[in-house]
Parts: sequence; C-alpha cells; structure tokens
Amino acid sequence: NAKEEGDGCYRFFKPNLLPLIEEKMRLENGLYKALQENQFSLYYQPKINAATGELCGIEALIRWKHPDLGLVPPDKFIPLAEESGFILEIDRWVFREACRQNKVWQDAGLKQISVSVNISARHFYQGNLKEMILSELKATGLDPHYVSLEITEGVFMRNIDQVIDTILYLRNLGIQISIDDFGTGYSSLNQLQRLPISDVKLDRSFIQGITSDDKKSSIVRAIIELVHSMNMKVVAEGVETLDESRFCKELKCDELQGYLFSRPLPADELEVMLAQADPER
Ligand code: C2E
Ligand code: MG
Ligand code: MG
Ligand code: MG
Repeated sequence: NAKEEGDGCYRFFKPNLLPLIEEKMRLENGLYKALQENQFSLYYQPKINAATGELCGIEALIRWKHPDLGLVPPDKFIPLAEESGFILEIDRWVFREACRQNKVWQDAGLKQISVSVNISARHFYQGNLKEMILSELKATGLDPHYVSLEITEGVFMRNIDQVIDTILYLRNLGIQISIDDFGTGYSSLNQLQRLPISDVKLDRSFIQGITSDDKKSSIVRAIIELVHSMNMKVVAEGVETLDESRFCKELKCDELQGYLFSRPLPADELEVMLAQADPER
C-alpha cells in the first residue's frame, strides 16, 4: 500500500539526503550564533555612472565567515534564512551596518554616495519594514537620501496595494527603491507602470553575451526604452567585459555594475576608492 511505498522510498533516498540535510541544519543552527558572535561582514560593490565613469553608489553584500566551514556564500544561507524567518534579523543587521558605515565615511569627508541594501521579500509581508528602517536610520543618523533598497519582483506577488503603500512611505522619506534581478521573475512590464520604483537592475543573464546575441540585445533595448519612458533609471548588473560595457552605454543604461569595474570589496578597500574619487558635491 501507499504507506509502505512511502517508507520504502524514504529508506531508498536516506543515504543520499542525509548529508545534505545535516549541512542544511548545521548552517541553519549556525545563523543565530553568527549574528551573536559577529561572523557576518559586509562587502561593497561599486556602481558606476555610465555617462561619466564616476563611482555613484555602492551595494552592500553580506559575507559569512564560518569558524569551521570558512567563507559561506550568501546563495547558501540566505535561502535558508528566508525559510526559517531569520532573514528578518539578518536584513536588520545588514541595514544597520551599511548605514553606520556610510555615515562614518560621510563624517570623514569622503565622497557622498548612496548605499544599497538587499531586502528580502519576506520583510514586506511578515516583518515591520517601516519600523525597522525608521529605527535603524535613527540609530545611525544617516540621511535617508543616501539609502537605497533592492527588492526582487517576488515582493509584488502578494498584497500589491499594501506593498505599494510601504514603498511610497519609504520614498517619501527620501529612500530609493530598485528592482533587483529584473527580468528573472514574474512581474510584467505592464505591472511596472504601477510601481513607485526609482530604478530597475537588469539581471546579469541579460547582459551576458549581449554583444553577440541580436535577440537579447533587442529585448534589452526595448526594456530600457520602456523603463526610461516611466522615468526610471536602468542599472546593468554583472558587466564583465569592455564590450558589454560599451554596449550598455550605447543602449543608454544609466549605471553599470560588475567585475569589470570592481568585485565587491571589504570596507577598508572601498574606503581607498572613495578617497580617490573626486569629492564633487
Ligand atoms: P544580487 O543582489 O543580485 O547581487 C549580485 C551578485 O552578483 C553578488 O553575489 C555579486 O558579488 C555578484 N556579481 C557582481 N558583479 C558580478 C559580475 O560581473 N559577474 C558575476 N558572475 N557576478 C557578479 P553575492 O554577493 O554572492 O550575492 C548573491 C545574492 O545573495 C545577491 O544577489 C542577493 O540576492 C543575496 N544577498 C547578498 N547579500 C545580501 C544581504 O545582505 N541581504 C539579503 N537579503 N540578500 C543578500
Ligand atoms: Mg542586489
Ligand atoms: Mg541582482
Ligand atoms: Mg542577482
């Protein structure tokens, strides 16, 4: 019967699944400790103004230095944290640390730029995003005009009116909102019209090989025109080659980000870059 079959399957797969489940549990249990014991840190990846080549912003990206496992990439633990809900704590830590660091740089007289923080979709339908942002801005003293939030299309899958309200509230504070990995999710270009978004980050998959793929380049061209017609900016993610960069500029992307310009850098290395950047205000 079905029950016996189910048991049989379970035993059959057990030897293969167990190590995976164990690793998952180990990481999941480790997250709480990681926060307590300061095992997280932020790296910062520059964004470049496509027209002038100037550094115009940075994106904060979390790194986990696990005492036994070494560096655990975000793709390995962010999804786990999203499952368990612990992402709310992580997002808060990242937001606070990014704001704190940016304020330190501003107070030191370095070039003033905006810092972007990735916010999980879960924060829109479970946590209290407004409260989190307000209390951490207050705690760090950073001017909200130097803050940007990166959200994915998944945010707009539920309670869209409530999500729009929250975004409008944040934008009224002066915070910028970007749609990250644009084009990989389910949102339609038609829906974009309704959203009070500042800019769209074109996913790396659209940029990769764009110079040799006519279909891809015409899709990207159309997206950029449409986004511009809605008075939003376009950021190209994952620009790795000079050809890709030239192409994105030709297509009138506003900002570029990718290994061609810089990998994500630890705070002290980013600081050197900020110090070299012309402090034009
Ligand atoms: P994302 O927000 O789309 O970030 C871009 C990812 O692409 C980063 O990986 C970055 O290091 C990588 N990248 C940047 N330029 C290039 C390039 O030219 N080529 C290639 N191949 N990759 C490039 P990372 O840091 O491993 O982060 C992966 C994802 O994990 C992020 O994607 C984001 O969704 C999530 N994530 C990272 N940090 C945080 C965080 O603090 N909070 C939350 N909620 N999610 C985070
Ligand atoms: Mg991002
Ligand atoms: Mg992205
Ligand atoms: Mg991505």
